[in-house]
Amino acid sequence: MKHIKELLKESPEEQIVEVNGWVKTFRSNRFIALNDGSTLHNIQCVVDFENFDEALLKQVATGAALKVKGKLVASQGRGQAVEIQVSELHIHGTADAETYPIQPKKHSMEFLREQAHLRVRTNTFAAIMRVRSALSFAVHQYFRQNGFYYMHAPIITGSDAEGAGEMFRVTTLDLKNPPLTEEGEVDFKEDFFGKETNLTVSGQLEAEAYAMGLGKVYTFGPTFRAENSNTSRHLAEFWMIEPEMAFFDLNDNMDLAEDFIKEVLRYIVEHCAEDLNFLEKRLLDEEKTKPQAERSELSLLDKLKFVIDNQFVRITYTEAIEILKNSKPNKKKKFQYLIEEWGADLQSEHERFLVEKHFKCPVILYDYPAKIKAFYMRLNEDGKTVRAMDILFPGIGEIVGGSQREERLDVLLEKIKTLGIDEKELWWYLDLRKYGTAVHSGFGLGFERLVQFATGMGNIRDVIPFPRTPQNAEF
Ligand code: ATP
Ligand code: MN
Repeated sequence: MKHIKELLKESPEEQIVEVNGWVKTFRSNRFIALNDGSTLHNIQCVVDFENFDEALLKQVATGAALKVKGKLVASQGRGQAVEIQVSELHIHGTADAETYPIQPKKHSMEFLREQAHLRVRTNTFAAIMRVRSALSFAVHQYFRQNGFYYMHAPIITGSDAEGAGEMFRVTTLDLKNPPLTEEGEVDFKEDFFGKETNLTVSGQLEAEAYAMGLGKVYTFGPTFRAENSNTSRHLAEFWMIEPEMAFFDLNDNMDLAEDFIKEVLRYIVEHCAEDLNFLEKRLLDEEKTKPQAERSELSLLDKLKFVIDNQFVRITYTEAIEILKNSKPNKKKKFQYLIEEWGADLQSEHERFLVEKHFKCPVILYDYPAKIKAFYMRLNEDGKTVRAMDILFPGIGEIVGGSQREERLDVLLEKIKTLGIDEKELWWYLDLRKYGTAVHSGFGLGFERLVQFATGMGNIRDVIPFPRTPQNAEF
């Protein structure tokens, strides 16, 4: 059986067609707008009510699942080229109009989050999820074409030295009555793995091990952070793409990240035009409700094309601090966190100023102070900055965080000693520096932030099927 997407492209020659789908609307007891998820567009199915039982037609309600059979003919009406003259109608399942939440009208995003199991039946969510699926395909395609191997990093991790954020514990211990050590602490030796384990916050350390044998690898999988930050850019469960490359320095890393982002965006501009046009219109309508000053200067597709066609600005952290120090919002004390000296961690207000006001373009910041970055980043000659890079995007903030990794055993040992990290915890990671160490680099890109940018959605909860956030794991 064909999908609606294919039927809409056929030339109508009264051929008999069959199609399944869900009813969007049923007008005048005659016109069914049917959608099967294959495209934004519905197919119009025309029923002659004299040929059908009244009781059967009553079941053709918004939300019902149907199979229709009939002739594909040129449409008499406006708005579509072809339609089906229905000769057979089968109701898979009707929907009670009194209670079905997704009626054909505008619903708020908040309402739809509470109906996450049904929201994909709206045009907006179907479009977002089709774009998400296409982007995910483009990610795999990009890496495959560029000599990377897809690597599955473990989701349960025993190393707690990654320092990327708060973790979710994995345990089978009886929480009411846990085994205790002599000191009265929970005895994790008795736990399933014989040690403390958590859900992964990043597959990087394991990816490094694999890069040092396969050359270029990437992970693309679920990642968990128990961060209690209720923002429009943070999820407790999200999908992260983490390439890791042997023999790549920081410049190679930045080149790859920029090329990768451009290439996957190019893919959806080419393959998801209908959905992106729809999302662009949706965004324009939403913008109209905002004050002039907050409206975006570019439409969604223009924004995507802008990113695809323009070089990202690359500046060091030190240069960024100078710009921020002398910026209007800093001088007028408009920033919540004022930039006073070198070494300050950048807040999202600063990142957004650089990207949205100052450069009006994606920005790669690199060479950050060692103090505000993770232990594994390579120390520069100056002894105080590390070969880190973050990519900042308009409307999103940080979309990529990456670095050249410290490949020198002595420097790495020194670093973890200063930080008070237990060397034994990292024995296998240190082995990678003992046996055949080499310059290598990688980055992590939050897939949902990419989908947010691609679809123009303001809240990250609306670009993942079933969002996990503090106090919310209903579905
Ligand atoms: P942020 O400062 O925005 O919290 P981070 O510095 O914690 O990000 P990294 O640890 O570098 O981020 O993770 C790599 C990428 O993963 C980020 O650039 C971002 O795209 C994404 N990311 C990080 N935390 C989250 C989250 N809680 N939800 C969704 N994506 C995230
Ligand atoms: Mn974070």
